[in-house]
Amino acid sequence: MPAYDFTSRTRRQSDPDVVVVGAGLAGLAAARALTGRGLTVQVLEATERIGGRLATRELDGFRLDNGSHLLNTDFPEPARRLDLDRLELRPLAPGVLVHSAGRRYRVGDPQQKTARQAATRGPLGSPLDRARLSSTLSRLAATPVPRLLARPETTTARALADRGLAPRTVDGFLRPLLGALLSDPALGTSSRVSDLVLRSYARGRLCLPATGIAAVPAQLAEGLPPGTVRLGVQVSAISADGVDTSAHGRVAARAVVLATDAQSAATLLPGLRQPDFHPVTTYYHAAGRSPLGEPVLLLDADRPGGHAVVSHSLVLSEVDASYAPPGRALVATTVLGRRSFEPGGPAGYEPLVRRRLAELYGTATSGWEFLSVRHVPDAVPAMPPPHNFRRSVRVLAGLYVCGDHRDTSTVQGALVSGRRAAEAVLRDLGVPATQEAAEAAA
Ligand SMILES: Cc1cc2nc3c(=O)[nH]c(=O)nc-3n(C[C@H](O)[C@H](O)[C@H](O)COP(=O)(O)OP(=O)(O)OC[C@H]3O[C@@H](n4cnc5c(N)ncnc54)[C@H](O)[C@@H]3O)c2cc1C
Repeated sequence: MPAYDFTSRTRRQSDPDVVVVGAGLAGLAAARALTGRGLTVQVLEATERIGGRLATRELDGFRLDNGSHLLNTDFPEPARRLDLDRLELRPLAPGVLVHSAGRRYRVGDPQQKTARQAATRGPLGSPLDRARLSSTLSRLAATPVPRLLARPETTTARALADRGLAPRTVDGFLRPLLGALLSDPALGTSSRVSDLVLRSYARGRLCLPATGIAAVPAQLAEGLPPGTVRLGVQVSAISADGVDTSAHGRVAARAVVLATDAQSAATLLPGLRQPDFHPVTTYYHAAGRSPLGEPVLLLDADRPGGHAVVSHSLVLSEVDASYAPPGRALVATTVLGRRSFEPGGPAGYEPLVRRRLAELYGTATSGWEFLSVRHVPDAVPAMPPPHNFRRSVRVLAGLYVCGDHRDTSTVQGALVSGRRAAEAVLRDLGVPATQEAAEAAA
């Protein structure tokens, strides 16, 4: 059956104004914006849960996310679309701990004065190198976004070198930090994207919802009229006036918003750009007690053979005690890069992760319990230069596409893309723009 079909068909009175395909962040954000303007919407989701890549499950009293996520209090779109107080965001400790050559160093606290940072011993090079890093972060924090986006664009690795940052500063801090924030330790990401991410890092605080990352889509869905989301409905073909589903017939509508991941979108809408992806593999371990007394991001800066064994690790039960049952600690550790994981797949790599964790945390890990591993091969769409931050969301009148692959591969980007698609629908359907929509679009 052709995935794409222009033929017009008749609508019934019960048909919604808009069908949104996919109940990830982008689809839920679009649905919220559309229902908020009085349109009837049906969100069709193939799986049995909302949230797409943002999921949390309980395992024996531990709260495991679908791979470790990090939010930032400086992301503007979550602040606009979500009630952050109700999300109970738990901040991580300022700065990070970097493990390098057998020692741990605290670095990158943007609130710390340049002189103090320069005096801090660590893996970042000379005092001059450290002062340069500190002033780079301060300048990024103070630069308005439009000015960052007007800068010449190259890869992150190239831009950092061009700015005179010492290789030790890059390898000892920025590479592992950007690995954790962008899932790209090779630093091939557009320099404009990494500038934005470092700007948010310098201005805000990394954080997580107290009850797990799934709280984010759950809150968006709570604001939808009852019955808006239909789970277990796989869309098999789309057109500007409705969708066909695998097992639930056709749903006609005045407009269709395709809000799936990039690969599903390209299947339903052939010709759509297919990005490369950064895989993310997350190991969850239970320990008898916390190996660190604080919720601080621990980065692995050692790269034997050019690859870190692990990227970063975080004691989630230090972020919020409810991530683990009483008397236990939950440690989430992320491995980046495309690896064969042979033999034994991602689980077969666990003993190596566990050994590395003993070095990183400076404690025996042989008694830790391996709870689970989550390997997501297509976790984060790659954003090499040139990166288009505002890929068109309007295919034609009646047919729209959103998702993190249209903006930036982040929670922020997925929310923005959903909002932009909804605005395009509203324009085409002749619904007048609100003041807030006009301001957000500016
Ligand atoms: C392990 C991991 C770690 C990450 N870390 C971070 C981080 O630290 N910070 C950050 O900002 N971002 C992070 N991200 C990225 C972030 O999760 C995504 O950018 C965001 O969730 C994408 O949302 P989306 O709505 O665009 O797509 P998705 O979440 O993929 O949602 C698409 C939805 O469409 C549904 N669907 C697909 N095909 C069909 C069909 N035919 N019919 C019906 N439904 C369909 C899917 O089931 C899914 O529910 C991470 C991602 C992963 C996987």
